Order: sequence, then structure tokens, then C-alpha cells
Amino acid sequence: MTIFNLGSINADLFYHLPHLPAPGETLASTEFRRGLGGKGANMSVAAARAAGHVVHIGAVGTDGRWAVERLLEYGVDTRHIAELGDTTGHAIILIDAAGENQIVLYPGANVALGQGQVTAALAGATPSDSLMFQNETNLQSFAAGLGQQKGMRVVYAAAPFDAEAVHGVIDRIDLLVLNQVEAAQLEAALGRGLGDLGISDIVVTLGAEGCRHLECQSGSDRHYPGIKVAAVDTTGAGDTFTGYLVAGLDRGMPMEQAIGRAQRAGALMVTRQGTADVIPDLRDLEDFRP
Ligand code: ATP
Repeated sequence: MTIFNLGSINADLFYHLPHLPAPGETLASTEFRRGLGGKGANMSVAAARAAGHVVHIGAVGTDGRWAVERLLEYGVDTRHIAELGDTTGHAIILIDAAGENQIVLYPGANVALGQGQVTAALAGATPSDSLMFQNETNLQSFAAGLGQQKGMRVVYAAAPFDAEAVHGVIDRIDLLVLNQVEAAQLEAALGRGLGDLGISDIVVTLGAEGCRHLECQSGSDRHYPGIKVAAVDTTGAGDTFTGYLVAGLDRGMPMEQAIGRAQRAGALMVTRQGTADVIPDLRDLEDFRP
């Protein structure tokens, strides 16, 4: 079973500064670090670390070969990542001495994908495969339609919130994963409660409080309490959770078990500083004693 992930690939560029720059001010950075990021890349890495067979569908610019190589190192199939003319998507992250930040995001190649690329990637997909996507690329609606036609499990992580993208996919998905803020935004945009969306499974992540699993058909709404850990950096927890959840379901785990393991991965992730490069693997999870 294969997990096809239509998703963003970003260079996260971290600049440490004595203070955040004022308008017109030029400041020298005291430390620079480049990491692999983007919700799509994070979810691909998480699903691969959870032993899923992951095919990433996405794009970088000519300056993004290192990111593709890193995904490959992490066990992701990169054959369907295109190299397009535009620059690789990137986040410029300014961090001051107190840890406060300012972020500028440029989507670049992430939003320049063509339909032919998605069609080619999904050409051999079968109903036992999964298709996942988020809101940091273009073509979500097109991909969701194809995935639905092929009878795949279609998974939508509705982050970062985008009302237009939501309208294009909401009737085509089997599993919706989102945090509480995104859930409120989605309900407001659609004018309907989560339970009235007709989606088979909805998982709302609640940070340290764990998550909720709603089944629209039966009306069941179950809370899974969070795992107690000392959080140092919550970045990427949601992406790690979602990648693990989809990989678990793809391997035939019942929802309860897949959520349990995804929660352990999310909890372990918040004890680590960083994003894609520090997503835990299955051995880390075995050794994790919260
Ligand atoms: P982010 O945008 O920071 O990646 P998110 O808002 O999408 O995260 P969260 O709800 O913060 O997602 O986290 C996803 C999952 O990770 C939670 O459902 C939970 O299982 C786990 N998790 C997150 N934060 C904590 C925490 N402080 N303690 C324990 N588990 C956590």
C-alpha cells in the first residue's frame, strides 16, 4: 500500500538576531541554520518514519535539490517531485534573543504544479492506496477528485487554513485532520458543524490535551487524552501526528490504535527542537517512556 502525499517542500531559513528589525533597519544575524520544512515534507517524513511507503508529489526550484536528497535519505520516494523554474518555497524565520519570531513565507515552486504531474503520479494508484494533501500547494481539488475516482483513502490536513481550498475538497475526502483553531475556521467558512459534514472520520488535534475522533455516520465523538511531556518546541507536532496516523491506517491498524501511536509520536516530537529533521521513527517510539 502506498501513501501519495501532494505536499509542500520548504527551506526553513532560521536567522538569529539580537532583536527583531524595525522598519528600515539592517541587522547582522548572529547565527544561521537551514532545515527541511513545509507541512507536506514534514508529513512525508513522518509517514516514512512510521514505516509507510510514501510517494511525495511536489515541486522545488533549481535551488532545492538538497531538499529532495534529504527526503530521499529519510526514505521518501521522490520520483514525482518536479524541478520547476521558480525558486523553492521557503520560510524566512527571524528569531530574537527572547525566542520571539517573525516569519515570511514564499510558496515558490510549491504552487506551480501542473495537473499532468499529479495525473502521472497517481496513474497506478489503487483503492488500497491513500492520498493526502494540505493547503500549501495548488491542485488539492483536482487531486482529491482523482483520488476519489480511483477509490483511494483521501486524507485532508486542513492546514494552514484556506477557505477556498476547503470548498474545493470537502465533499471528496474520507479523513479530515485539523487542529481546534482550523476546526473553528472551517465551521465558520462552511456554516456547518464538523459533525454535519458527512465525512467518515474527523480527527481534531488538541495540543497537550490530545485529540478527538468524530465519526459523522454514527455520531460518535471520542476524546483521547494527551500524553504528559515537558514540551520544548511544538513546531511540527501536528504534521508528525498526521503522518503517523495515515501510515497506521495504511498498514491496516484500527483507528484507535493508529491514533494512539500518532499521539505518542506527536508527544515525543514536542520534546525535540526542530522540524522534519527530528521527526521520531518507530524505534524512538519504542524507547519513549513518558
Ligand atoms: P503544529 O501546527 O504546531 O504542528 P497543530 O496545532 O497542528 O501543531 P497540535 O494539536 O498542537 O497540532 O498537536 C498534534 C498532536 O501532537 C496532539 O493531538 C497531541 O497528540 C500531540 N501533542 C501536541 N502538543 C503536545 C503536548 N504539549 N503534549 C503532549 N502531546 C502533544
